[in-house]
Amino acid sequence: MNILLVEDDPSVAAGVLDGLVNAGFKVTHVDNGKQAIASAASAPFDLILLDLGLPDMDGQDVCRTIRQSHQTPIIILSARSEEIDRVLALEFGADDYMVKPFGMRELVARIKAVYRRTSSQPDTPAGTQEIGPISIDRRQQKVHVNGQEVYLTPKEFDLLAYLANDPGAVFRRNDIMSEVWDTNWYGTTKTVDAHVAALRKKLGNQDWIEAVRGVGFRLTVSTS
Ligand code: CA
Repeated sequence: MNILLVEDDPSVAAGVLDGLVNAGFKVTHVDNGKQAIASAASAPFDLILLDLGLPDMDGQDVCRTIRQSHQTPIIILSARSEEIDRVLALEFGADDYMVKPFGMRELVARIKAVYRRTSSQPDTPAGTQEIGPISIDRRQQKVHVNGQEVYLTPKEFDLLAYLANDPGAVFRRNDIMSEVWDTNWYGTTKTVDAHVAALRKKLGNQDWIEAVRGVGFRLTVSTS
């Protein structure tokens, strides 16, 4: 597996590099945001480890910029441990978040989990699913409403696809967090609400995703 490590602190970078190489990964290291964006655009990486506090750019902007053109999984590395940053990390397109200091074993386990989740989805049915006016193409990760393509972020797509696994059924918030974000979420589920709000807006109908008070959400698109 080919990993891009974006980290400006030489001692952290050296430790992570060492650990990842020992674990059998191929690692390219850059120490600033501009190089990170250029590297991500020029070479195919399987995964990006991204420090948030970079000398030239905010890591959030680096993450957003890479996300605009690439689906490469991104794990944020940060010393900031406040909840707001965790929520933000998921909202600006990161796949996971690690708070420094972390152990190499944990990092390697997370890398493998994120990579497995994003590279193969064996239980996802192929082909296009039609739910009323919505059509969901899981293979191409595309969504159309009444024949018009709707541009979703990867997480918005995953959320819609997850709810569409069983239209009409109520999915619990914590299950949505663990299935769509692959995280054991002991804190807030605000990020689910934020994505539901964005999804409703993009789909163009507020009623299609119904909030079930105290429980979670369900897809209520009429199939007639
Ligand atoms: Ca840093």
